[in-house]
Amino acid sequence: MLFKSTRSTQQATESAAQVIKQGLANDGGLFVPESIPALTEEEIKVLCGDSYPVRAAKILSKFLGDYTYEELLEDCEKAYSESSFVGGAAPMVNIHDNLESLELWHGPTAAFKDMALQIMPRLLSRALVKTGEKRTALILVATSGDTGKAALEGYKDVDGIKIMVFYPVDGVSRVQKLQMATQTGSNVNVCAIRGNFDDAQNGVKAIFGDKAMADALNEKGYFFSSANSINWGRLAPQIVYYVSAYCDLLNAGKCKMGDSFNVCVPTGNFGNIFAAYLAKLMGLPIGKLICASNSNNILTDFLRTGTYDRNRDFYLTMSPSMDILISSNLERLLYFVAGSEKTASYMEDLKNKGVYSVEADVLAEIQKNFIGYYTDEKETAATIKATFEKYNYLADTHTAVAIHAAEAYVAESGDKAPMVIDSTASPYKFANNVYLAVVGKDAPSELEALDELEKATNTKIPYPLSGLAERKVNFTKTVDKSEMANAVLEYLNA
Ligand SMILES: *Cc1c(COP(=O)(O)O)cnc(C)c1O
Repeated sequence: MLFKSTRSTQQATESAAQVIKQGLANDGGLFVPESIPALTEEEIKVLCGDSYPVRAAKILSKFLGDYTYEELLEDCEKAYSESSFVGGAAPMVNIHDNLESLELWHGPTAAFKDMALQIMPRLLSRALVKTGEKRTALILVATSGDTGKAALEGYKDVDGIKIMVFYPVDGVSRVQKLQMATQTGSNVNVCAIRGNFDDAQNGVKAIFGDKAMADALNEKGYFFSSANSINWGRLAPQIVYYVSAYCDLLNAGKCKMGDSFNVCVPTGNFGNIFAAYLAKLMGLPIGKLICASNSNNILTDFLRTGTYDRNRDFYLTMSPSMDILISSNLERLLYFVAGSEKTASYMEDLKNKGVYSVEADVLAEIQKNFIGYYTDEKETAATIKATFEKYNYLADTHTAVAIHAAEAYVAESGDKAPMVIDSTASPYKFANNVYLAVVGKDAPSELEALDELEKATNTKIPYPLSGLAERKVNFTKTVDKSEMANAVLEYLNA
């Protein structure tokens, strides 16, 4: 199985190890596999009896031809171990009727990024060996909170890699700051900067683009790499939980082999929902893919009109991981539906004008599979409250956006197939807003919101977020935004 760029008409030439190491294609496109491997009913039957790590190794091995099954199984068993994902990697919990919540947040940072970031670093570590790389990869991350912590947990103590995370000193929540400052691991570093998230991001970009810095690193035996969500190594592991969900539906007798089910995904960068589409292309009987957005409803508009227009207001919402106006992974869908030439021209329009439109036949093909809904702030809070009061299910803000979208779709379409809703974060990750939605008043403080939510709802704080205030702080450094490159060199020299 070889890979090519979404924007290239050339034949596929790159191995999985190479694309995981490289991240982005040279022409700025995203890597896609040359063909989609099939998943047969016979295989699904066998997967039904397998554990999550075995399901993951079997699905991944279809896409990562230069990794052996034994390598993948070893990595998956470590990534999705019972100690990291307490109670299992992707358990499905019934909300009501045939609405199922696929809980993707039982990992070490209590949000769904763990599903990919626990395995991707191990795949990268092997990719370095497979491509003959002698240097150590240095992962630099700028974060507004959640991605940084998930990356730290994923890369910690992985061979051949070091990671350094920058965050805006006043731009993350107290819980997020504590999560990062108390990080453990022999190959990790965390640094606050005086500046905002854009400063952190621009600083990292400047370091990546600095030739003198690359030379200095090279001499020390390092090269830069990124943990970006457009990396194929982050996307492929997300296919697994859709297959796993179907197996769990079959095992629970909620559908018969061959019956289809729908999925509803709270969407930002379009990575998670695109993984569901890949699962469908492989042969998993998914009916509709419901794309749920918050007030930043650029994808809802696109899926309904065929025009993607980022010239619009940007809103800060209570589901911040979906506050996005550029859904990078949508490019992969465009490639599969419209081909590389059209994709390259849409992306050119997006770059130059901030807007592109797809042709009527392309839109019609997309709409066969996808439908978009959005949920505003009031509806999100009301959904959290109603879902808890009626069904005793406590949803986080992102999951609530999806529950509302799924309910809207079912009401509009009358579709009776089982509906799997991706639950992407623990409600405790956004305890302030969840508490406010359920109880109707603010918690005394952000940290106390966790305990208060526990008392008010009789649920339990997940292990990654409990006792945060008592953990040992390992990182206290703050630097000016102009000092980021020096901070990197200091870390490597230490
Ligand atoms: C990242 C994230 C999302 C959005 O996922 P995409 O792959 O970017 O569409 C949704 N919810 C949470 C909690 C997230 O962290």
